[in-house]
Amino acid sequence: MLNKFIGRILFVLFTILIILTVGFGFVHNLILDKNAVVTNSLIPKDSPKRMMLIFPHPDDEITVSGEVFREIHEKNAKVTMVVLTEGEAGKTGGVVSKDVLGKAREKEGELAAKKLGVTPVQATFPDAKLSEVNPIELKNYIYQQIKKYKPTTILTYDDVVGYYGHPDHIFAAKMVREVFREHKDDSSFSAKRLYMVTLPPKVWDGLSKFGKKLREKYPLRENQRPPTPTNAVIVKVYGKQIDELAKGYKTQQQAVDALLPGHRQIPYWIYFKVLDREYFYLAEEN
Ligand SMILES: [Zn+2]
Repeated sequence: MLNKFIGRILFVLFTILIILTVGFGFVHNLILDKNAVVTNSLIPKDSPKRMMLIFPHPDDEITVSGEVFREIHEKNAKVTMVVLTEGEAGKTGGVVSKDVLGKAREKEGELAAKKLGVTPVQATFPDAKLSEVNPIELKNYIYQQIKKYKPTTILTYDDVVGYYGHPDHIFAAKMVREVFREHKDDSSFSAKRLYMVTLPPKVWDGLSKFGKKLREKYPLRENQRPPTPTNAVIVKVYGKQIDELAKGYKTQQQAVDALLPGHRQIPYWIYFKVLDREYFYLAEEN
């Protein structure tokens, strides 16, 4: 009697496991971009292992964190994270009052930098108004950081939709690209590659259909699409670390959940089996 009962339970569990495996496999294939070349490292083989992330807000680096963990743990790379604003215009998440949000987010960013193993560089350009900054001033700041830390590879957002439409993301990426183009022929310019973090076309199409809230907040024109990925980095072994990094941003829960939808509901070891890669577009090469 008991054996029969245990047998039934095992059968049910086994069936659930099969359904889940097939289901997650199905979703994995649905969002997989097979055209993006899988690479072990975005840093050129014969170049010093130095990378720089340039983003407008503390928490933006979550989008590339798997790649960063990989470069640091597997290639011993030195990574600098330049954050252009303190993110003071964002939501407080009910965690702190609005007047101290900038400082709170800066602290969260510092903590994230520690977890990632990167050197943080915090600037104080105005959040949500980055495009109002004099482009010469902003580009000069970016150029000075590149001159100081000498990265061979730079990561930023794409300069068309900024991952999901945020104007600061788009503007920052445009400025980084202009700096790269303006200085690529200087013999002292260290950067060899500029990558933009992006999404596969079918994921973008899915988001456009289902991400209504984002589209209402950040309207885009019909023809504005993220660049098609040239490379993919498989990040699933760093799922736990990425998840912890994301959860460290207490004030930005809502924004972080838009970057990693469902990560609080699904265990990381399943979640990152499905969302197992980060996608990049090689925007500039020297
Ligand atoms: Zn952002």
